[in-house]
This record gives sequence, structure tokens and C-alpha cells, in this order.
Amino acid sequence: MDIIKAHCNKCCGTRRHEVLHKEKTDWSEAYEDGQFTIYGGYTYSMIKCCGCENIALKHDSWCSEETDINGSPLTSTIYFPPATYREKPRWLSEFLFLSLKHSFVGELITEIYIALQNNSSRLAVMGVRSLIEQVMIDKIGDKGTFKNNLDEFERRGFISKTQKEILEPVLDAGHAAIHRNYKPSMKDVVSLIDIVENIIESLYVNSRRALNIKKKIPLRQQEHK
Ligand SMILES: [Zn+2]
Repeated sequence: MDIIKAHCNKCCGTRRHEVLHKEKTDWSEAYEDGQFTIYGGYTYSMIKCCGCENIALKHDSWCSEETDINGSPLTSTIYFPPATYREKPRWLSEFLFLSLKHSFVGELITEIYIALQNNSSRLAVMGVRSLIEQVMIDKIGDKGTFKNNLDEFERRGFISKTQKEILEPVLDAGHAAIHRNYKPSMKDVVSLIDIVENIIESLYVNSRRALNIKKKIPLRQQEHK
């Protein structure tokens, strides 16, 4: 049984994996009447995390034309499903299940994570901006511009002044990704998602939980005078 180190999506990091099955293929292509040949290979490994038992397919490829400074071929690795470097929020599945009215929130979050998995930081930031815009419109109606929506969102008490100050750069990053060809780093995208998910959790998920708790508390008996 082969054991290798590989990325685990459930554990969110590099873990030891058991190789359940492995297939190797090689290829070569001749150019200019056989004057020179380019060659390479693929390895497909079905792997299982030794910790959480998650299963994935690891695809390694190399090519004679992509080498390090010593001339050894460089291997590039991708995973199916794609490697994720951040877990979806734990409340998301509960939210998707319970809140049909606000399904756009869950759907957009899911799409943002697909963009993240595919290293598409611009699409992820555009998604984050669109997500917060949809949330604001859902709560306060459309006030015409982003700035007006944000001002009203704060005025009505959905976010604090501090949260508004944190959100402004999020919105600006989304705007810059759309209009000014700004490509944020994945680390920046992850911090933007943190901020927006916190707000969504407090507006939709925690408020529902609070309501459920309230329903369970027996009403006070009227006090006798
Ligand atoms: Zn794992």
C-alpha cells in the first residue's frame, strides 16, 4: 500500500493519503520529420485521506519542455474535485435547506466557492460584491446606487458603523475587479469572504436561531398585584 502526501479538501491541508489505485500513461510527439521529440506523462491516482477518509483523484503531469534549472521535468498537480483552500461555512447547508426565500444568497455563495476552487479571484470578488448588494436590496430595497444602499443599510441598523467601514473596501475591490482590471490575491479574497459571511450569518442565520429560541421560552405568568 503506497502512502503519499496530498491535499485534502475536508481537512483543508496537506495530509497523508493511501493510494487506492494508480494508472500511468506516457506520450510523445515528433516534430519536423522526427528531428526532435517532445514527451511527457500523466499519472492518475485515486487517493484516500488517512485522517478523514475523503477520496479524490490526483492528476500529475509532466512534459520534457517544462523543467527546473537542473533539467528535471516539473510535475504539475491538479485534483478532482478541485482543491479547496477554504471550507464553506458550516451554516450554509442548514441555510440552503431552510431558507427558500433567500436561496439567492446560498446560490451565490456556492458560485463564489466554485470561482475560488478554480483560482478565479476576480470572479470571486465580483461575486462577493454582488452578494452584499443583493443582501442590502433584500433588507432595505434598492436605493439606486451602491453608496446609497450602504448608507441606508447602516442607518436602518443592519450593520454597525464599524462594519460599514470594513465593507467599503470590499465593495471597492469588487468594483475595481469589474472596471479597473484589478486582480486580488486569493488571501485578500478569503478575507473579503470572511467579512461578508459574518454579516450574512448575523442577518439571516443567527436571527432565525434567536427566533427559534424565543418560541421555546415559556411566557411569563402575569404577576399578581
Ligand atoms: Zn482529510
